[in-house]
Amino acid sequence: MSEEGGPDPRTDGERTVRGRPAAPGTGIGTLVSLDAPTVGIAASAETMPPERIREVLVGAIRDTGEALAALSLSLDPQAAEILEFQTAFLADPGLIEEINTVLGTADDRPLAVWSRVMEAQIRPVEEEEDEYFRARAADLRDMERSVADRLAAVRTERRTIPHGSILCGDDLSPSTFLSLDRDRLEGIALARGSATSHVAMLARSRGIPMVVALAEPPAPGARAIVDGSGGNLVIHPSISTLATFERRVEAAGVSDEILFAPAILPSGERVGIHINVDDPSAVSEREWRACDGVGLMRSEFLFSSDGSPPDEESQYSAYRSILEHLDGRPAIIRTLDVGGDKPVAALDQPAESNPFLGLRGIRLCLARPSVFSLQLRALMRAAVHGDLRIMLPMVCVQEEIDRTRRLCDELLTQLTDSGQKARRPPIGIMIETPVAALGARTLDADFFSIGSNDLIQYTMAASRDGGTGVAELLDPTHPVILRLIGETVAAGRERGIEVGLCGDMASDPAATEALLRCGLRKLSVAPAAIGAVKHRISQIEGEGT
Ligand code: PEP
Ligand code: MG
Repeated sequence: MSEEGGPDPRTDGERTVRGRPAAPGTGIGTLVSLDAPTVGIAASAETMPPERIREVLVGAIRDTGEALAALSLSLDPQAAEILEFQTAFLADPGLIEEINTVLGTADDRPLAVWSRVMEAQIRPVEEEEDEYFRARAADLRDMERSVADRLAAVRTERRTIPHGSILCGDDLSPSTFLSLDRDRLEGIALARGSATSHVAMLARSRGIPMVVALAEPPAPGARAIVDGSGGNLVIHPSISTLATFERRVEAAGVSDEILFAPAILPSGERVGIHINVDDPSAVSEREWRACDGVGLMRSEFLFSSDGSPPDEESQYSAYRSILEHLDGRPAIIRTLDVGGDKPVAALDQPAESNPFLGLRGIRLCLARPSVFSLQLRALMRAAVHGDLRIMLPMVCVQEEIDRTRRLCDELLTQLTDSGQKARRPPIGIMIETPVAALGARTLDADFFSIGSNDLIQYTMAASRDGGTGVAELLDPTHPVILRLIGETVAAGRERGIEVGLCGDMASDPAATEALLRCGLRKLSVAPAAIGAVKHRISQIEGEGT
């Protein structure tokens, strides 16, 4: 709070809303909504006889198709191809047949008839199990909206947005996206949407950071940061958070010489720069090339918040494809880390009054052995294809590691007995609670990776998502936090195992030197931050790190 008692823009109100990454990069700007009412004007609201309704609808569909075809002419082939699906749909005579079927049985206004026809097309697509097909529903909604706009005589030419806009809303259609002025658009933040949608593909190819499936719908008007690599939307960012992300934006322009070279300290020691991966399709080819491996793959992205858990085969293919991207470099894949701020309906989690301190991470995995076993089987099968390592989240006590090892041994026997190729990879743990950091010397695991996001939250007793009055407590360089990191590094040295850090502070160049002073030589960063962190390391002079 400021001295007058009003909100203090330096610290108050910062909140991080979690979502899924859809297009990498960092966008800083103001949330702007494009949701405009379409109903209620001109031809849409008039009651008419069926013949006239058909005429009005056929005209609106034809005009929309022609406008899309004209827009396609100004686009690159990838974008034009996306619109082709829409123009073909609108030109399909089957659509008019659908209208004929509904005419006379429904409302006697064109818009109502059109909505009914499109609802019948869209609903089955929205209920598809496959995310790729579900994402096509956004294209159909787009057409529903475009024709509705024509009926309502809404202007559909190029939409005007202010400079520095972050587009927010429920979902976004490809044609709306393509009609926007790219130079004014800093990012996209959607409450629904999908990383496999056409809009996400377009955003990736045009370098516009995008997050989807946000845990709460973003409201327009606020200043915000789209963290397209981490899959977060930071609303009302504090000055220090803004500075961190601005450094990332600046460093996105670092030279290829720095980006693709190993990070070396003046002492000659190498610092491994690995990446955190949520959805692998959001990582660019350059980022795959520039990293030393994957330091954290959050496997939760495979488990949609509402759908059923992915089967063994699809998990196996997803893990294997990460190894293929890395071509021999290591990949640490974390087992399911849900609970707390990351619920998954299919796991039937209990209602908890304090979920961050409840059944989350490894606790939930061990409490759902069928889901956990499926994932471990997929991981052990994928492990024969490269340097895969398994990481357990939220470990507090040795028993959690021992139970997982025993389960892996049993599953490995089952797999090999049934003739499947499999291997038990190293099993490491995240150090993200004070008990794990202070007790690291007693924890027998194959490697440690410090999860600073949770470690800070649990040490400072302040929600990691920030919020009024606690954001300023989340200081990654607080001496106690650095002490816990240092303790963990010392414990790793004593045990002769590798220690890395994969929380968000690894991506902040302002924290790099402090982390190196703690003895860390492995950082796992957001893909968009590789350049910034390598650049920072290249500037470090002298001894003492
Ligand atoms: C962390 O807690 O620092 C971490 C990397 O894990 P997550 O952010 O997924 O909880
Ligand atoms: Mg964590």
